[in-house]
Amino acid sequence: MEVFVCHRCGQCCQGQGGIVVSAAERQRLADYLGLDEATMTERYAQPQGSKWVLRSRADGYCVFYQDGVGCGVHPAKPDVCRAWPFFRGNILDPVSWQLAQEACPGIEPSGGHTRFAEAGRAYLQAHGLLKRGQPDEATALVLPPEEPA
Ligand code: SF4
Ligand code: SF4
Repeated sequence: MEVFVCHRCGQCCQGQGGIVVSAAERQRLADYLGLDEATMTERYAQPQGSKWVLRSRADGYCVFYQDGVGCGVHPAKPDVCRAWPFFRGNILDPVSWQLAQEACPGIEPSGGHTRFAEAGRAYLQAHGLLKRGQPDEATALVLPPEEPA
């Protein structure tokens, strides 16, 4: 039993201000789009506190979302997009994991939270998605060390 299988519904690409882009991620997007970093950031991102987040369209979808297609910057998409639904809150808190199921039909409830958390940690680790908490990085990708069993 998988703990998560993406249905490609696009729901996680809707919502204001959730897609944090660090300096490294802004540069990755700029390279992909053939722009310099400052132009990419000005065009597609906006400041939010100490961080930058992707802009949203009027209907709430991410500026890079393409209707009927999906992510328009898939090879260069931000780390939070690669990591979802394995976010800190969903890994640490069974209630958050349960609530996340309402937003993301790909999370398999019968997989159970413990297995979800284990698989999530392993996925983030294997894909280099864990962050150390630099000011411009997504806190959703910062995890405390695992408790000894
Ligand atoms: S909301 Fe979940 S199932 Fe839908 S596209 Fe996003 S990750 Fe996949
Ligand atoms: S960058 Fe791509 S995957 Fe991330 S929210 Fe935007 S459209 Fe969705």
